[in-house]
Amino acid sequence: MKKTKLLTAAVAIVIAFSLSCKKESTTTVSNGADMGEMSAKKSSTLTLAMQQKLETLYAKIPAAAKAKVSGQAKIKLQLHPEYRDIVRKTLKLEEATCDDNTASSQWLDQQLADWNNTIINYVVTTAMLDLPTYDALIFENSSANQSFGSSGQYSQKLTKAFKDLKRFWNINSENIVLAPMHGTMLTNRDRILRTYKAAFDLDDASANYYADFVLAIVDAFPQLRGGDHPIFTFNAFAQSSFNFPPYGVIPDKIIMGDGIMDAFAAIGYGDVAPQAILAHEFGHHIQFDLNLFGDASGPEATRRTELMADAYSAYYLSHARGASMQWKRVQLFLNVFFNIGDCSFTSDGHHGTPTQRMAAAKWGYEVADAAQKQGHILTAQEFTSRFEAQLPTLLLQ
Ligand SMILES: [Zn+2]
Repeated sequence: MKKTKLLTAAVAIVIAFSLSCKKESTTTVSNGADMGEMSAKKSSTLTLAMQQKLETLYAKIPAAAKAKVSGQAKIKLQLHPEYRDIVRKTLKLEEATCDDNTASSQWLDQQLADWNNTIINYVVTTAMLDLPTYDALIFENSSANQSFGSSGQYSQKLTKAFKDLKRFWNINSENIVLAPMHGTMLTNRDRILRTYKAAFDLDDASANYYADFVLAIVDAFPQLRGGDHPIFTFNAFAQSSFNFPPYGVIPDKIIMGDGIMDAFAAIGYGDVAPQAILAHEFGHHIQFDLNLFGDASGPEATRRTELMADAYSAYYLSHARGASMQWKRVQLFLNVFFNIGDCSFTSDGHHGTPTQRMAAAKWGYEVADAAQKQGHILTAQEFTSRFEAQLPTLLLQ
């Protein structure tokens, strides 16, 4: 009985997760056929005693709390669609719709080689895949004393690039917070508690039950690597300041997940990836600052702002007074980066095709190449005007 309940809840969350970036809300619960089928294919490695412990902990959680965690969170999950897609496809929560079999997705797949469907069921049931993102979105509100990467391996590159980006672009960037997202928050009771309360509006008692459950899951499955598994932090995002009572004003921020940087470092792009991903997110802050998002929504609007962020990024990365990277090297990385699986061409979160994204980046590089000869950096306003004029041509790609 308990097992059936768990499975149903998991399926409900699978559905909620698949729609997390779309506007419609959902309460639909399917019959659980997919999860049942997956469970049949792989077996659990959990001992009976551990399984009973987890089931007992799960049974303590009030139904109302389960409904909240499986439903829409109080706050919109910040995920770039292509990052969400790669996580979901790798976990087989969604069918692949296009050929996105890149080195980075293969690497992530390998990291999940020792996972079975019991584990997937638990992490989906608890929304553990989203907890590090929500924690960073709501509570990481200072750049001070931050460390990037599980052992601080990206700290120096990111801190330098962030300082550089603030100097490079003439926008109001003083108050942007740069902060990390570490999967190890999944072993930190206080962080788990505060995140369930803030993101899912749980009361103290329910949040405590969930915290017990999550801590026991991480403890039961070494495959989760104490939370330090890239699947939990395969994400990076830019967020504009917003008021979130009773927590107050959440500042402008950029969050860089350990997992996404690990993926590109593992396949040989550790020299470019952290700065390139950061420069793209910084590009979104240029858009916030110059109010470039406008009222438009839908796939065309998102494509415009995403291609623009790619262009800002390439301009900074290749500019002699920016990161001054070799364009060929940047291009090699972008070739992998732009192919990680955004095939939802009609989705509101669509970024443009990989070819369009590369065209936008290449154009940004060419502007930088010309500007170098003139020895100056275009203002964000000038660069944006040029981009807007170029956009129809980029879309022909
Ligand atoms: Zn973006």
